[in-house]
Amino acid sequence: MENKVRVRFAPSPTGPLHIGGVRTALYNYLFARQNGGTMILRIEDTDSNRFVPGAEDYINEALQWLGIGIDEGVREGGNYGPYKQSERRDIYRRYVKQLLDDGKAYIAFDTPEELDAKRKEIANFQYDAKTRGMMRNSLTLSKEEVDALIAAGEKYVVRILIEPNQEVKVNDLIRGEVTVNSSVVDDKVLYKSADDLPTYHLANIVDDHLMEVTHVIRGEEWLPSAPLHVLLYEALGWKDSMPQFVHLPLLLKPDGKGKLSKRDGDRLGFPVFPLEWHDPVSGDISSGYRERGYLPEAVVNFLALLGWNPGNDQEMFSMDELIKAFSFEHCSKKGAKFDFEKGKWFNHEYLINMDDDKLAQLFKPELAKHGIDASQFTDEYITRAVGMIKSRISFVGDIWDNAKFFFVAPTEYAPKDIKKRWKEDTPETMRRLIEVIKGIDDMTSANAEEIVLGWIKDNELHMGNVMNAFRLTVVGECKGPHMFDIAELIGKDEIIARIERGIENIKPVVE
Ligand code: GLU
Repeated sequence: MENKVRVRFAPSPTGPLHIGGVRTALYNYLFARQNGGTMILRIEDTDSNRFVPGAEDYINEALQWLGIGIDEGVREGGNYGPYKQSERRDIYRRYVKQLLDDGKAYIAFDTPEELDAKRKEIANFQYDAKTRGMMRNSLTLSKEEVDALIAAGEKYVVRILIEPNQEVKVNDLIRGEVTVNSSVVDDKVLYKSADDLPTYHLANIVDDHLMEVTHVIRGEEWLPSAPLHVLLYEALGWKDSMPQFVHLPLLLKPDGKGKLSKRDGDRLGFPVFPLEWHDPVSGDISSGYRERGYLPEAVVNFLALLGWNPGNDQEMFSMDELIKAFSFEHCSKKGAKFDFEKGKWFNHEYLINMDDDKLAQLFKPELAKHGIDASQFTDEYITRAVGMIKSRISFVGDIWDNAKFFFVAPTEYAPKDIKKRWKEDTPETMRRLIEVIKGIDDMTSANAEEIVLGWIKDNELHMGNVMNAFRLTVVGECKGPHMFDIAELIGKDEIIARIERGIENIKPVVE
């Protein structure tokens, strides 16, 4: 296929991958898969000051957890490697030299102090056509001076030479064509001799070109860099093979006021990271969707709809459905509000639609956490128990609270339910109920229900009081699934034992 789609997700390993970064990765992946293209993972680690150990592993683990597959990358290999920028120094050096030789860039020696002084002297100082003539660089110094400074080991940077008053056109698939005057772009630093590394801008453009990237799909925060990137493609002589830009809408705080930040999660009580992150320096722990009990499918579905819509009211999408339905035409320019409650709702939907036996397997470790040996129960038992309560949960972690009575008999009884349902004569009624249940041979739900309800009616007992007192002894409180479904699963002997224990332990509240 001609011009095969090649996209890249290019995170910098400066900390845990933010949920907005995950969405960028997801959209890249959806677009690649939809077009039978290639998804590249490139690690942009040229800013050695901001490097954080563990961040690269975190990125890999998060993408893997979410099912965002990578075709070419550090782990996967590929024909365009290395895929880590710190291993591509020779390549960047070549292009720094090319730009200098072609007069598209120049060497600058200004120290941070000199730059600061200029900023104080000139309002809104920017290093550009207007000011570069006042600075210490290879345009103002002679060749001999420049060579002497370099030979003396003076630190320098290489800056792009931006021609002022040029029209720069940035073509974006979501935003259309935007024209910017080159005079607003400054002579950005492309390379620093101090660490012999390019800056983000140069490395990013060189790699996108050499890796034959066809579409640069990234967050809106990179839109201001796009004019510079276009000029850099021109300067390098690659204008004709420039990739298509796609800048995705920002993720906004839940109230829509400003960009979603790492601190919003801590402040508002929801994760903004896919996986839990342990900061190697501060030791701080930031919560993650995985550890909070989210299913990866739910997170993917939730994120896909933050900035894109299918054009109809379908909300539930599997990854395969997303791959088919996704399009940039239906991405919004406006920022997307981060509606965390909606995220919870997706998780709930995925859990209730999950097969009960799969859910049971997810629940088993929770049983262990609560000191229950899961092997005491058959898979069928656990499966039926979770099946009965799953409509009430948003997380796997909610199952225990709703289902614990299937695994341990209550030792405490809800005081408000005792007050309402346990009267002076309740123990006597419960003793009679035990006799009725003893007489039931077939404890299946419908049969037990018919017999017990028949007995209540025939004896003109109060339906609500009897059934709730019965439930109180078995469950410990007056809520839960259908009582006779519970009784069928727990079984006759255990039900009788629980009613007996209730009679012994529940004392009516005397007012
Ligand atoms: N390394 C940049 C980041 O951390 C990549 C931006 C881009 O995709 O061009 O997001």
